[in-house]
Amino acid sequence: MKIRTATKRAPSTRLSVTVVAVRPASRKKSGTKKAKYPDIRRDLERQRAAILDEVGEVLTNRPDLEAFPDVSDQASAEVDQNFSMRIRERERKLLKKIDEALDRMNTATYGICERCGGDIPYKRLKARPVTTLCIECKTLQEQEERARR
Ligand SMILES: [Zn+2]
Repeated sequence: MKIRTATKRAPSTRLSVTVVAVRPASRKKSGTKKAKYPDIRRDLERQRAAILDEVGEVLTNRPDLEAFPDVSDQASAEVDQNFSMRIRERERKLLKKIDEALDRMNTATYGICERCGGDIPYKRLKARPVTTLCIECKTLQEQEERARR
């Protein structure tokens, strides 16, 4: 099983390894709308749980939450903290995107291109579940960004 991460730079294999028990979707029955992309929702929830797990681990190891048993630990603790802050920044962004995608699923706007209002093909959603643009619009956007630079 593969879980694609949203950014190309971060193919953290841990995401696919640390798949932990996802909260069972017990609320599902109350919804009247049928989920359009149940498997993508599962992917997103799994990825979300994996990130939370990872971030939780980082937070647990945060040195400033505990008293230092030894002063000599402090230097390495600071290095760890810088590292964990970088991780958290990256994970936080991805987590935000995942949450937004799940929100869109709840409001039935998931899979609709923000720019042209067209349906984003399933294949693209499966590969990039947090995307908000269809390929054409994404390409246009990238061209515009390049032109602006
Ligand atoms: Zn579009």
